[in-house]
Amino acid sequence: MSESLISVAYIGAIILFILSLGGLSNPETSRRGNLYGTIGMIIAVLATVLGPRVSADGIAWIAAALVIGGALGLYLARTVQMTQMPELVAFMHSLVGLVAVVVGYASYIDPTAAAGMSPAEESVHHVEVYLGILIGAVTLSGSVIAFGKLSGKIGGKPVLLPARHGLNLALLIAVIALGYWFLTAGSNDEGMKPLVAMTVIALLFGVHMVMAIGGADMPVVVSMLNSYSGWAAAATGFMLSNDLLIVTGALVGSSGAILSYIMCRAMNRQFLSVIAGGFGAGAPSTAATGGAAQPAGEVVSVSAAETAELLKEANSIIIVPGYGMAVAQAQHTVYEITKYLREKGKNVRFAIHPVAGRMPGHMNVLLAEAKVPYDIVLEMDEINADFPDTNVAMVIGANDIVNPSAQDDPTSPIAGMPVLEVWKAQTSIVMKRSMASGYAGVDNPLFYRENNRMLFGDAKKMLDDVLVALKA
Ligand code: NDP
Repeated sequence: MSESLISVAYIGAIILFILSLGGLSNPETSRRGNLYGTIGMIIAVLATVLGPRVSADGIAWIAAALVIGGALGLYLARTVQMTQMPELVAFMHSLVGLVAVVVGYASYIDPTAAAGMSPAEESVHHVEVYLGILIGAVTLSGSVIAFGKLSGKIGGKPVLLPARHGLNLALLIAVIALGYWFLTAGSNDEGMKPLVAMTVIALLFGVHMVMAIGGADMPVVVSMLNSYSGWAAAATGFMLSNDLLIVTGALVGSSGAILSYIMCRAMNRQFLSVIAGGFGAGAPSTAATGGAAQPAGEVVSVSAAETAELLKEANSIIIVPGYGMAVAQAQHTVYEITKYLREKGKNVRFAIHPVAGRMPGHMNVLLAEAKVPYDIVLEMDEINADFPDTNVAMVIGANDIVNPSAQDDPTSPIAGMPVLEVWKAQTSIVMKRSMASGYAGVDNPLFYRENNRMLFGDAKKMLDDVLVALKA
């Protein structure tokens, strides 16, 4: 394949990636967006593999890697549960980081990488290597910790080292000093020492950064690592002088940064304070302190039949799905109930909190899968004011996103986070298995409110029973 043909193919792939991102921003066009992305990636891989920089021997290696990687990807795509998607995404980010580190070292050691470069060009190449490995290592270890936190293998509480800000500053100064040593090193052997030392520091920093972030702030971390993985890919593109990788990495990096901003705004957090860590450590959970701090009031539980009665009497209903709906895989029954109630002339709508579930857009994906019409699925800002005019707010496996203490209790770890005001409805019904807290580990006073009812049990099982009772 000639250089000019490769350039044309790369430009085509870039356009397809941009169209893909545009398509993925809306559930109605997301399938098309996915298709654009897939075609773009096939073109990008073919143009690179068939290009002049890959030898005939190289093609065999790449083909073998494609078969192994493709088979693994196919297996994961078919077997991974929807609830495991966030940790899978974190795992993928860690791979991008790992690639940036490995490519960085290879590019530094490879004698041909800098062949023919002027001293100035070689210095620029070394800066690319250093930054690429730095970003890659932070992404790698940070994503591994995020994977552990999202899969529940590591606790959600922030781990705060004493003088952590001072420690971070010291690490930053060390990275700059090592960078100076690396760039002025007389030989590759000498340069290796600061490079390895910086890699270790960057790995430790990634661990420290994500360990310090509390459960409720994990959405920002997920999108931030998404952004880092993009910058790591862009850095890899610089090291390999591959324009397509630079542009694609920048697209992922900047869209991840925009998503982090949206997440911060949704949670009323400052990006820098999230990164500094510590949220979620504030007040201990009331369950832990017990006694006086315990939410006041009585918990009133209802049966599926009573829930069906409340729904039959209601004219306007808002359904609030949360992580528990994903765990129970209750979305199809939710759709059946919605269809039935709408056929009876009731106004049924869905309220989606930006951080509901465990990844951005989690609830939208599940509801789209169950074929819930998009026009009744509304964002928090669009629907929050409507709760006072609503007869029944039905909360399905959600907890943190409907916790009034975010508004009422300034000492709460989730204080200031906007929440769906379900308690303002005439009656709220919360469907969950127990009184356990949500991801942020905070008690929920909603359960004790006078107009709240609890329907205890697995959301799918309970909703099946509600549907039967509705139709009876
Ligand atoms: P929560 O984690 O706050 O609550 C989910 C609730 O679902 C639990 O309290 C649990 O209670 C219940 N549940 C679990 N399984 C079932 C089941 N089978 N049937 C019925 N109920 C069930 O989820 P929310 O969606 O309300 O809030 C999301 C939280 O996750 C926020 O704190 C957010 O910051 C965080 N997060 C979000 C990310 C994102 O990008 N969206 C990423 C990372 C974290 P019980 O055990 O009693 O059943």
